[in-house]
Amino acid sequence: MRLDWDAMQEKWRRKWEEHKIFETDPDQNKKKYFVTVAYPYPNSPQHIGHGRTYTLADVHARYMRMQGYNVIFPMGFHYTGTPILAMSKRIAANDQELIDTFVSIYKVPKEQVANFNEPIKIAEYFHNEIKQGMLEMGYSIDWRREFTTIDDVYTKFISWQFRKLKEKGLVAQGSHPVGWCPNDGNPVSQHDTIGDVEPEFTEYTLVKFEFDGYNIPTATLRPETVFGVTSLWINPDAEYVKAQVDGERWIISSKCADKLRFLNRNVAVQDKIKGRELVGKKFAVPLANRSVMMFPASFVEPADGTGIVMSVPAHAPYDYQALEDLKRNKFLLSNFGIDNKQLESARPIVIIESEGYNDVPALVVINKHNIKTQDDPKLEEATTDLYSHEFYKGKMLSNTMQYAGMSVARARDEVKKNMLQQKLADAMLELIKPVRCRCGTECVVKLLSDQWFINYSDANWKSLAHNCINSIQLMPDEIRTEFDYTVDWLKERACARKSGLGTRLPWDEEWIIESLSDSVIYMAYYIIAKYVKDGSLNNSKINDSFFDYVLLGSGSASEVSRSCNTSVDLVNKIRNEFEYFYPVDSRHSGRDLVPNHLTFFIFNHIAIFPESKWPKQIVVNGSVLMEGRKMSKSLGNIVPLRSAIRDHSADAIRVSMLVAAELLQDADFTLDAVKGIRERLERIYDMCMQFRKKDSAQLEQEDKWILSRLQHIVEETTAAMDKLRVRESLHNVIYTMDQDMQWYFKRVTAKGRSNDAISGMVRQVLDTRVRMLAPFAPFISEEMWEMLGNDKSVVLASWPRVDESKFDYAADESEILITNILADAQNIIKVTKIKPKRVFIYTAASWKWKVYQNVLNMVMHGKINFGEIMKVLINDASTSKAKESPDMVKRMIDDILSDPLDSRQRKVKLTLDEVSVFENAKGLLARELNAEIVIYNEDDQSKVDPKNKAKVARPYKPALYME
Ligand SMILES: [Zn+2]
Repeated sequence: MRLDWDAMQEKWRRKWEEHKIFETDPDQNKKKYFVTVAYPYPNSPQHIGHGRTYTLADVHARYMRMQGYNVIFPMGFHYTGTPILAMSKRIAANDQELIDTFVSIYKVPKEQVANFNEPIKIAEYFHNEIKQGMLEMGYSIDWRREFTTIDDVYTKFISWQFRKLKEKGLVAQGSHPVGWCPNDGNPVSQHDTIGDVEPEFTEYTLVKFEFDGYNIPTATLRPETVFGVTSLWINPDAEYVKAQVDGERWIISSKCADKLRFLNRNVAVQDKIKGRELVGKKFAVPLANRSVMMFPASFVEPADGTGIVMSVPAHAPYDYQALEDLKRNKFLLSNFGIDNKQLESARPIVIIESEGYNDVPALVVINKHNIKTQDDPKLEEATTDLYSHEFYKGKMLSNTMQYAGMSVARARDEVKKNMLQQKLADAMLELIKPVRCRCGTECVVKLLSDQWFINYSDANWKSLAHNCINSIQLMPDEIRTEFDYTVDWLKERACARKSGLGTRLPWDEEWIIESLSDSVIYMAYYIIAKYVKDGSLNNSKINDSFFDYVLLGSGSASEVSRSCNTSVDLVNKIRNEFEYFYPVDSRHSGRDLVPNHLTFFIFNHIAIFPESKWPKQIVVNGSVLMEGRKMSKSLGNIVPLRSAIRDHSADAIRVSMLVAAELLQDADFTLDAVKGIRERLERIYDMCMQFRKKDSAQLEQEDKWILSRLQHIVEETTAAMDKLRVRESLHNVIYTMDQDMQWYFKRVTAKGRSNDAISGMVRQVLDTRVRMLAPFAPFISEEMWEMLGNDKSVVLASWPRVDESKFDYAADESEILITNILADAQNIIKVTKIKPKRVFIYTAASWKWKVYQNVLNMVMHGKINFGEIMKVLINDASTSKAKESPDMVKRMIDDILSDPLDSRQRKVKLTLDEVSVFENAKGLLARELNAEIVIYNEDDQSKVDPKNKAKVARPYKPALYME
């Protein structure tokens, strides 16, 4: 009978709900464990890429439950922000591209999309969609605690949070640069941009060249290279303007003029010109007493910087290569009336020396990377290489005036400072990489003069954040430096906007708190949400005194009860529940949120809560690739979670997305892998159907082995789960256990034992295996658990413990011996192509075992010198025979040294009767090798040994002969 996945999943979802199995309330007899994962933003359905983080959090919650913890795992929905608003505007404007995305990629019914001109309809639709997906994935969420960030009490909670921050002087208003969408008139952060890029900006130096009474500013991060400028580049077809900028006459691209206005510069455009009008003209280089020519370059982006750049071919690989390409382009040159002599005048001027770059440095790296044209993507890497090399190792040459002999790092600051002082340069904030808003508009940097921001620059706050990071558990630990780095570079951050969904700034109501500021301490709100949702809390009367008492313990329950019109009992109940569940024990998130959300989460907890309520742990995971490629709308490879569940089952998807990679690695999701996993799960299920009898007869060698193996697997898997090394855990539970079971069945079949005879053993294995599988594949695990005769959910079962009494090292080693001899024999047969009639196995003589034990003991005590070992052996009467076979002792030492440490430790206490080990597997060996098996101990006087092979046998290394 085939497994009906749909019916089975439905059955268990219903049972979990009926038995309220994931609803968690305080229980003073149990230790609590609080797992949270970033609440979703409902502007699209969840796809496979989101699934990894949520599934990991759920697996963690389920694992901790089985470890005996009272686990709380809640979920909310983040409506805050502008993206949903922007989408609804695009729908209202009948934007066909967005409508197509909704209908063909997200599978939203057309009649629904028609309602999406109201932002709240978008949020509600995808809220429901995502929640259904979470239910279908089997996430063990306590849904009584669900909320959205525009709920009435939530906005009161956020107002409280902001009043607290303000009291502590951590929110202020002032002049502050932000990433900005000119179209929406709003600041943008990661959530608002296409491709989820955080807009990062930096200060460029504008080096001013002089021409005909005008300043020609060029943007650079390397002002010290002004001494090496040999020409300027301009885009001949782009539009430029002559303008007054703060009283000076400038020529810049018209896009630059727009950007300068956002930076509060006073810009008055007087005239428009095409870039080509400046080509071939000469421009005076600041500081140096010479002039350079303007060359045409289509690669110059008018939107970057000022739209005119200086060319430093000796130290900028792009400039060098562009100049080379220009030399070859005779047509272009004659078109602009530039002759070869003029081009010659632009040859590289080397101004920096550094170790390993004797010639023109740019040429050296170009040759090193084998670059041929300016379109070569390797130029980027070549540039980074050279820039950082010169920054750390470079020294200014004698042709750089008073800067000669300075390090590049120092000259950069000095040249900039001096040029700014002499008004030979200016400065401009600019995005490091171009960023586009979700509405499609190119973002800019804007200097906001009345912007509200959270002051993450506060030195005291920063140092507390470092303390918290020091004491927090991070998984994996290697992410710690990324957190410390973020804390160091974080500056003031805009925390409110003038549009979007969310909570109004309580003291300045034209502002709305933005989405990376109202999502940092909401985990505490899950405690309150339960009482809001069940109607017991009187929403309209809640005020700050309530949050002060419940979340911080200040004030009194009776005061709160009076001012909020609630009962003292209820207020105390909520307070006690918060005290019981807080702090957060484990916060799960994708790695991309380290530079913002996760670090803000730390900062804000520190600001608001006492140290005892700071988060205990953060778990960070990498992203998901689809068949080896990044998931993106343009590639059309986004698979919505719900349709994937319908096609492949929730369990197979859960396992596939976690088995592919450890935490930080990208996980490659492939359909082949999902199918493979599903089949493996079904095979375990079939096994559960087959082995229902509980009693076990006399234990044979292979029974002892499989039960001992099981203990090893439990031990290793538990250690892996404690570090959330889920890939390793799944490999143990799925692949390694499959291999073990296959070997076990091979052994059993060869002996002709019936299913009845082994049912007890197999059941023990299955019982343990199902429990270890349960956090990963909850649906089929429930079904199997029930089939094995359990009447309570596997969620309530405990994680398997190691049964020390079942470790059997002799059994472990015996099966290794058998698999090894089988592999050796098969190998010989394959190489020699003989078909043996008889296979002889000779096991080592008893005196060799004594030698082996002595040598092993010596190695374990650090003695590995052959001469010393021989001396000890010869001086001992029981091992003096070793004198005749020094080669064998050498090999023994090698055998031992190549053995893993834990295996050596086990063997110290072990003497195997190898003849009985092989006798036990005689049937299997005969069958596999298709030959008669003859087994002798080397000591056996009557042994048949035609080729005198027995003498080479060593302990654990029997000799083989075939005929
Ligand atoms: Zn926009």
